[in-house]
Amino acid sequence: MQLKQHIDQLADQCVKCGMCLPGCPTYQLSKNENESPRGRIALMQGIVNGELNLSPNVIQHLDHCLGCLSCEKICPSKVQYETLIDSIREYTVLQKPLPFQNKLISFLVKPTIQNSLFPLLRFYQFSGIQKLARVSGLLKLTGLSKQEQLLPKLKPRLKLNPHYPAKQASLGTVALFTGCMGQQFEQSALLASIKVLTRLGYDVDIPEQVCCGALHQHSGFRQQADTFAKTNKTFLLNGSYQAILFTASGCGAQLKTSLKQNQIPVTSLMDFIEQHSRKHSVSFASIKQSVVIHQPCSLQNTLKQTDAVITLLGKIPALKITELQSPCCGAAGKNMLSQTTLANQIRQPLLKQIQQTAADIVVSSNIGCALHLGAGLQRKIPVVHPIELIAKSLQ
Ligand code: SF4
Ligand code: SF4
Repeated sequence: MQLKQHIDQLADQCVKCGMCLPGCPTYQLSKNENESPRGRIALMQGIVNGELNLSPNVIQHLDHCLGCLSCEKICPSKVQYETLIDSIREYTVLQKPLPFQNKLISFLVKPTIQNSLFPLLRFYQFSGIQKLARVSGLLKLTGLSKQEQLLPKLKPRLKLNPHYPAKQASLGTVALFTGCMGQQFEQSALLASIKVLTRLGYDVDIPEQVCCGALHQHSGFRQQADTFAKTNKTFLLNGSYQAILFTASGCGAQLKTSLKQNQIPVTSLMDFIEQHSRKHSVSFASIKQSVVIHQPCSLQNTLKQTDAVITLLGKIPALKITELQSPCCGAAGKNMLSQTTLANQIRQPLLKQIQQTAADIVVSSNIGCALHLGAGLQRKIPVVHPIELIAKSLQ
């Protein structure tokens, strides 16, 4: 079926009831129908039926969508909103050349580019050029100052072994999916994951793997996402794993879709450990701190695995837990880079809540959200993966 027809058919399932509007972060911010799920679906129908041109204004309303899927979760007509927004972006990409920033983001996830880019970025941070670029106003002039603030202090890329043996009688082997950015941006979380899993009795493999393709899929580059999915299938389904685990929920949601209909369960690391703790005794030492939990949209609305984070952190004695309300932080994959003003506006109420709780620490299971929240908090409060607290308190 043609892409246009496919979009039209899916969009037809929307009965325009408007029940999805109150949960949509972009509609709540603007009160503009074109910034709502119902409005965007109407725009899609107008585009594919030839009633609307792909004007910059129309494209912007579609680009503003965070892909949080709070609309899909609530929709009584079961409209497949994720497929719709991905498909209209694919259609848009085929019709119109992409803005420079979008092309750049797609380029950055390539491992060959990353291997040369990150050492250069480290040089930029540590040589004094960063200070100069900030003070001289060069970053503002190039329109990159908000994006640059998202970058934490970079360490050299983490080198991982292909295999880590269990530290007690083995319960089986699991594969850990690190994603294309994990070894750069999630180093402590990956090391904590290996520590916890091996301590609990699992052999951990770090198989060969490529990017999950989520950024490509949600930016309209479906073919590229499909190629990544195929490659990951070849690499990850080769071993006889008990489970394929991931730390970043955004990557995990994409990986789970890519590897569906296979025998090996693909699940979040926290969920796997929570399942383990139901069958085996696991004890935790106390942590006298206050933690705020951010539950990423990918964990809530796609994977539906938020309970494990609450349950596991709840087992740590003395740890004071608060869960954030209105959890979409606005990071939304590449949106925090390409739609920085909107991403920052959506993040604002969350920062306020975090500050009101006087938290020592914030946890988030998605690396993009953690970077976005960390930048908003000006790195005054650490934002870490929940597995890091588990690793700290596991006895
Ligand atoms: S809730 Fe579903 S059917 Fe109702 S307007 Fe939103 S997308 Fe359409
Ligand atoms: S995915 Fe999120 S931002 Fe996009 S229309 Fe649905 S609720 Fe709104």
